[in-house]
Amino acid sequence: MMRMAADVIRPEIRALSSYPVQNAAGMIKLDAMENPFTFPASFRAGLAGALAGASLNRYPSAAAEELKCDLRQAMHIPDSLDILLGNGSDEIIQLIAMATARPGARLLSVEPAFVMFRMIATFCGLHYIGVRLRADFSLDLPAMLDAIQREQPAVTFIAYPNNPTGNLFDRAAIGEIISAAGHYGGLVVIDEAYFAFARDTFLDQIADYPNALLMRTVSKLGLAGIRLGMLIGRAEWLVEFDKLRLPYNINALTQAAAGFAMRHYEPLLQQAELLKAERSRLAMALDRIDGIRCFPSEANFILIRVADAGHSFAHLVSRRILVKNTSGSHPLLANTLRLTVGTPAENDALIAALQTST
Ligand SMILES: *Cc1c(COP(=O)(O)O)cnc(C)c1O
Repeated sequence: MMRMAADVIRPEIRALSSYPVQNAAGMIKLDAMENPFTFPASFRAGLAGALAGASLNRYPSAAAEELKCDLRQAMHIPDSLDILLGNGSDEIIQLIAMATARPGARLLSVEPAFVMFRMIATFCGLHYIGVRLRADFSLDLPAMLDAIQREQPAVTFIAYPNNPTGNLFDRAAIGEIISAAGHYGGLVVIDEAYFAFARDTFLDQIADYPNALLMRTVSKLGLAGIRLGMLIGRAEWLVEFDKLRLPYNINALTQAAAGFAMRHYEPLLQQAELLKAERSRLAMALDRIDGIRCFPSEANFILIRVADAGHSFAHLVSRRILVKNTSGSHPLLANTLRLTVGTPAENDALIAALQTST
């Protein structure tokens, strides 16, 4: 008898839905934490030259050593730490999950957090454990330590700052989590996707922990289109994940573009500074609107609570502004919207639209 998808596909995969991406044609796009700016003309010209010089007839450099050097210099990554590159940090999460998915193994994170932690756990057959944050989105350290002792997770992911809440967790609490996880032989990955917008990082401290790694991406920095993420840490971990990495996972155009961008890093940092200034301006304007509560952010987005998120979301769409309706994705996120910080003009349009939505 012929077997059908329903018989062949794992039930937990059949129960999933594909990652939803909203159609944003013709809209002010403030839903996905993209950098809204284009690059200066001289940067674009240099980038075009770098891409034209890429050898597209050849497979790309498998180890991408030159690109790693450029990343190391731009981001001040010490020589004592190794780098592994992924097709976005999403691929790195997947490599880590595949490598740690022994029968019964657990992947732990906080709730609400970046949805890919839970989704990739499911893809790879890891049991996902989500520990609820407090109502103010801070870490519930006793609950985390309890869960680590009870579940003994193979790997724990903590985004610093967190998405979708935007806050940095308490540094000392993260240190305790790393130590507790290490006590049970677990790895902790600090996901710094928003490092360019935050005032703190674990880069200087990651080497102090035998069981912690740091993950970054260039996506939120203005290069979401090229798909490049990085894992930073001790070689003893990275060599194992590297065995699962598909050969040539970082294509030649990405290597050329990212290399150029890292050697001309200043415009990217300037844009990040501008977005931080816009974040403050946007937060202040939102705070003045009756019926909006604005949560503090160290990222390039702001989470707000409104009276009726569905109503506000629809009102913004009617004004051709697309944000993320996070309401409904977790009880702690009831009636929240996640607003990516845009250009000054986009933020003005957002503020004006929200002023008339409550
Ligand atoms: C956006 C985001 C990522 C995804 O990064 P890519 O490199 O684009 O795959 C990872 N972690 C967090 C917390 C994010 O918000």
